Amino acid sequence: MARIYNFSPGPSVLPAPVLEKAREDLRGWRSTGITVMEMSHRGKDFIGIAEKATADLRELLEIPQNYKVLFLAGGASAQFAAVPLNLLRGKTKVSYVSTGYWSEKAIAEARLFGEVQVSASGKESNFTTIPPRPQWNVDPDAAYLHYTANETIGGVEFQAAPEADGLPLVADMSSNILSRPVEVGRFGLIYASAQKNIGLPGLAVVIVREDLIGQALPGTPSTFDYRRQAAEGSMVNTPPTYSWYVAGLMVEWLKEQGGLKAIEARNIRKAEKLYAAIDALPFYSNPVDPAVRSRMNVPFHLADAALETPFLAEAKEAGLAYLEGHRSVGGLRASIYNAMPEEGVDALISFMREFERKRG
Ligand code: PMP
Repeated sequence: MARIYNFSPGPSVLPAPVLEKAREDLRGWRSTGITVMEMSHRGKDFIGIAEKATADLRELLEIPQNYKVLFLAGGASAQFAAVPLNLLRGKTKVSYVSTGYWSEKAIAEARLFGEVQVSASGKESNFTTIPPRPQWNVDPDAAYLHYTANETIGGVEFQAAPEADGLPLVADMSSNILSRPVEVGRFGLIYASAQKNIGLPGLAVVIVREDLIGQALPGTPSTFDYRRQAAEGSMVNTPPTYSWYVAGLMVEWLKEQGGLKAIEARNIRKAEKLYAAIDALPFYSNPVDPAVRSRMNVPFHLADAALETPFLAEAKEAGLAYLEGHRSVGGLRASIYNAMPEEGVDALISFMREFERKRG
C-alpha cells in the first residue's frame, strides 16, 4: 500500500510498525490457529494480551499502585456520563472548566446527573484561550473539578494540570494522552478515548484513584460502575478486545520510541515548526493564544476562505489528506498525533509554502 500522510483527528494515523505487527498477528496468534479478533475475552491468550497491555501502560505512564486502570467500551462519550455517576459520591455539585466543544459535551452530559458549576469558560474569547487559573471560581463543595486537557477541534491545550483546590481533578485526555509525561498522582481520574494516541475507537482508558470508586449513584448501569468493572478486570461485559490489543501495540511502540519524554520532544518539534510556518505567512492564520496552542491538533484558516477547497484537493493530490476542519467550525486542521512522522509535518509545511507561492 502506498501510504499517505493522514492528518485525521481520529480515528487517526497508526505507526507503521504497529500496523506491521497487527498484520503479522493476523496470520495467527502464536500457535493458537486463530487471530486476536476471534478470541474469547476470557481465554488465557486474550487475558495475557490484556494484562501485558495494562502493565505496559502502567509502566509508561508511571501509574501509582493506588490507581485502577480500566479498558471500557463506549469511548470517551460514555465516560462523560460514567464520571458523574461514579464520582458524585453523595454530593450534588460538580465543577467543570469549559474550553470548547468537548468540554461543552462533557458538561451537557454531567447535567443529566448533577448540578454543574462552570468554574471558568473560554467562550468570551471564542475558545481561543484558557482563562487564567486565579480567575476560576471552584466550588469547594463540588465532587470534583473536570477539564478537557486538549480541545481536539479548537486546538487549545493545557500545558500543565491546573490546581484543583483539594478537589479530585478529572481530565479528559482523549486527544493528548501519551503525548507527554503527566503526573498521574495529581489526578483523581484520567480518561481518554483510544482512537488518537492509543489506537482504535470504541475503547476508553480510565485511570482512577481507588478511594474514589465504590459509591456509584444508585441506578448506575453495571457496565458504567467503576467498582464492578475494576473487580471484574473490565469484563463486566465483553470489552472491545481488538482495540485493547492494539492499545498494547501502541504502548509497546511508544516504549521503543524512548517513552513519553522522547515522544514529547518530537511532538514539540513538530508543533513548533508547523505553527512557525502558519505565523510566518499572512496567508495562513491560527487564532489560538500561543501560550495554549495544542501540540496535537493545529486548526488554521486561509486568508481567502474560497481557497480552502482547492487547498484540500491539491493537498490530497500531494498525499496529505484529511485536513478539513471540524464541521462545526470549518477551516482546516492538521492533527499531528504521536504516530504522525516528523516528515509528514515537513511535507505539509512545504506544501503550504508552495500553495502560498502559487495562490497567495
Ligand atoms: N473528548 C475529546 C477531547 C475528543 O476529541 C473526543 C473525540 N474526538 C471525545 C471526547 C469523544 O470520544 P468518542 O467519540 O470516542 O466517544
